[in-house]
This record gives sequence, C-alpha cells and structure tokens, in this order.
Amino acid sequence: MSAQPHRAGLLLAVVLLALGLGLAAPRADAAAPETVVREQGQQARTLELAVRAQAQLHERERTLLALNRRADARERALLGRKAVLATYGYHGDPERVRAVLPLASYRLSAGFGLTGPLWEAQHGGQDFSTSPGDAIVAVAAGVVSEVAWSGPYGLRTIVTLPDGTEVWYCHQDDVSVYAGQAVEVAERIGSVGSTGNSTGPHLHLEVRPGGGGPIDPLDWLRAEGLAP
Ligand SMILES: [Zn+2]
Repeated sequence: MSAQPHRAGLLLAVVLLALGLGLAAPRADAAAPETVVREQGQQARTLELAVRAQAQLHERERTLLALNRRADARERALLGRKAVLATYGYHGDPERVRAVLPLASYRLSAGFGLTGPLWEAQHGGQDFSTSPGDAIVAVAAGVVSEVAWSGPYGLRTIVTLPDGTEVWYCHQDDVSVYAGQAVEVAERIGSVGSTGNSTGPHLHLEVRPGGGGPIDPLDWLRAEGLAP
C-alpha cells in the first residue's frame, strides 16, 4: 500500500521535469532537449556575428574618419602651397608645378644681351631689381652644383636642373643652400644682395642650357608658362 503514493510522486516529478524543459525552450512546441541546445548555440553564434559586424562597422568608421582627416590636412597643405606658388607667379595645379619666378616682387632692370661698361661682353642674364634681403627661390627643382664667390657675379649659387640646364643666381647677400643639395621648385636658396660687380641690390639670373652659353632667362621663364 505504501508503494502507490511513491510511484505517483515519481510520475509527477517526470511530468514537472518535462513541463520545465518545455518552458525553458524558446518555443513551447520544440521541447526536445537537443533542439533547445542547438537553438541556444545558434543564438549565441548570431549574437557573436552581430557583435563582430558592429566592431567591423566601428573600425570602418574610424578608418574613414582618419582618411578624411588626412584628406583635410592634405587639402590645407595644398592650399598653402598654392598660395606660396601664386606669390611666385605660378597659378596652376600645385602638384604639376615645374617652374616659378625667382622673386615675389621685383622690377625688371637690365635685360639679356645688353652691352655696356658694366659687362665685359654682353649681359648674360636678366636683372631683377628689388629690396636687399628679399628671398630668392629656385625657379625649378634641381641640385645645387656650386655655391661660391665668383668675381663680378658676387656670391653665386648654381642649380643644375635634371635636363642639364644651369641656373645662376648672382650678387646674393647670403645663401641658404649648400653644394650637392637637392632643391625643390620655389624653395628658398638665398637672399638678394649687391655683391660683386653690382650698382644696387638685384638678382642677376642666368639660364645656361646644358651648362653652355646663356640664353634669355625671360624666354626660358615664358616657355615654362610664366609671365615675368
Ligand atoms: Zn645682371
């Protein structure tokens, strides 16, 4: 007689257990324990994928932000460069600049080919008169091939361009470059003076293709699209 209530209790426990599993499952009709485990596993994977996708999205946003910041900085640098180049007579794309004028402001004085008491033969360059100490910039990129005191030319810097053309900057007050240095177009190479055979502060500019005889520097500058 005492075994029956015991068996009823066991049955109740099994029913309760089955009900409990059923309630724990996400869907009451999919109560089999393997299904529950599988569904929970899938949910965990879905969550993991969502978290990973979110992380990737944040990473992409950070990368885009960094790229934008870099583009802004580049834009600002280009605008600054454009303004500097405009000062030296170049108004095109800063990334395509080949040549600029040697000074920000000047008055053209003695021209190329003149003869007179100041010159032993013909005047081999173009004179740009301006205030002493004004910055002289490289009219084109090249390598400084000489910095020296050169008699009538005074303190002279020679920059040799990639095509072999020599550009002479004469009568300088001081020099900011050294022999062997690569210079960029529009980079400062020195300042205007009146050293050597000179009657006042000016830049005497010579252009010598292939290191040979001089040509009219104004022709060379105009051929580069400048308006000296
Ligand atoms: Zn001169």
